[in-house]
Amino acid sequence: MRTPEGVTVTLVRGDITRQSADVIVNAANSSLLGGGGVDGAIHRRGGPEILAACRELRASRYGKGLRTGRAVATTAGALDAQWVVHTVGPVWSSSEDRSALLASCYRESLRVAAELGARTVAFPAISTGIYGWPMDDGARIAVRTVLEVAAPPVTEVRFVLFDAHAYAEFEEALETGG
Ligand code: ADP
Repeated sequence: MRTPEGVTVTLVRGDITRQSADVIVNAANSSLLGGGGVDGAIHRRGGPEILAACRELRASRYGKGLRTGRAVATTAGALDAQWVVHTVGPVWSSSEDRSALLASCYRESLRVAAELGARTVAFPAISTGIYGWPMDDGARIAVRTVLEVAAPPVTEVRFVLFDAHAYAEFEEALETGG
């Protein structure tokens, strides 16, 4: 599928740390110091360089941590990518609508990627793991936001989905335009 700006949007089932892309997006937490899920996998496979870069960011610009919905780039270490863009998804809440923050993760990550001159960007399904966001809604927000904002120099946005359920929900969101 192509966005109005001519960006190709693709779906892949698999492990994001095995992807080759200019940018691999990490579903980080505000500490930037690693965690479970995608975050743990990225640090494990990417090696200590990524954590060292995150520690530097903590010491310089993000002493209080990275705010929810924001994004920041580091080296990709040993991953087959040029940069990891770390973004902090919102924790799902049934009583409060936090979808603007989830959309912001995709928008800000793409903004940072474009600033770096990245052409290919791989995203996980942000907030849909430990942070509890329902996959159908998380997929709709992801697809809608990417269709709205992805633009050159980015030429491909790839959603890397870990399991069949995530893949099916993203497929449906893509068919209906989010
Ligand atoms: P969050 O804290 O933002 O919810 P998680 O990392 O817990 O982040 O989960 C986000 C999504 O990424 C979940 O759907 C989870 O199944 C998926 N996931 C976990 N590990 C990987 C991986 N190595 N590659 C791609 N997706 C992954």
